[in-house]
Amino acid sequence: MIEDKVYAARSILVVGAHAFDAEVIAGPLAAAAVKRGASVTFLHLTMGEQGHPCLIPAHYCAQKEEEAGRAAERLGVTVRNLGLHDAFLPADDGTALKVCDVIRELKPEVVITHWHGSWHKDHRAAAHLTQTGIFYAALPTIARDHTAHTPGLLLFGENWEDDDGFKPEHLVDVSDGFDAWSEAVHEYELARGLSSFPYVDYYSALYRLRGCLRGTRHAQAFAAASHSWNAGSGLFAPPPGGGRGR
Ligand SMILES: [Zn+2]
Repeated sequence: MIEDKVYAARSILVVGAHAFDAEVIAGPLAAAAVKRGASVTFLHLTMGEQGHPCLIPAHYCAQKEEEAGRAAERLGVTVRNLGLHDAFLPADDGTALKVCDVIRELKPEVVITHWHGSWHKDHRAAAHLTQTGIFYAALPTIARDHTAHTPGLLLFGENWEDDDGFKPEHLVDVSDGFDAWSEAVHEYELARGLSSFPYVDYYSALYRLRGCLRGTRHAQAFAAASHSWNAGSGLFAPPPGGGRGR
């Protein structure tokens, strides 16, 4: 069961296009995993600095860095920021290698990112960069500072902007992470009325809705990578049974 695998992990990496994305696709799960002893890192590819109607991007970037830090403290997670540019996130191999480096350094067992079916180009890029980053991280012939690593599980989280074809295949009980999530997202001005979209209402109701179907107070939905991806992502690892076949 996916939930058992997630909560058995000692290290989890969540990759979001903009600060606040990791918090909504896996915030309650992160807080719940931390309570179970896991080490969770949020990798913000950009700070989402273009998203303020009044502040110039440089000023909003600084504000979001502070907000992301306070939110991470409330969730108990570590935060990383690649410092790339909001609205111009490149879906290229050089950027995927930066994601690869973080994966190799942290060696997470579980990686969570955006579902690729999004109207937002940065979100599509983040999904692509994460999958390609895992591919590069697993390839031992690619020499980087850290040794090769293959995460055992890649999941795609639920985000209101990434709804094109998303199927809630797996529901994970996040009941004991919800309160920390609620406090964490309120550290962001985005959750306190900056946007016309009612983020907190939407996600609070969504996690409750998924919880109703999971049979718990709150749950988060995830889609899994394809069978061939799961088989192929371990292709470069040593063969099981000392080389006697798979
Ligand atoms: Zn975003």
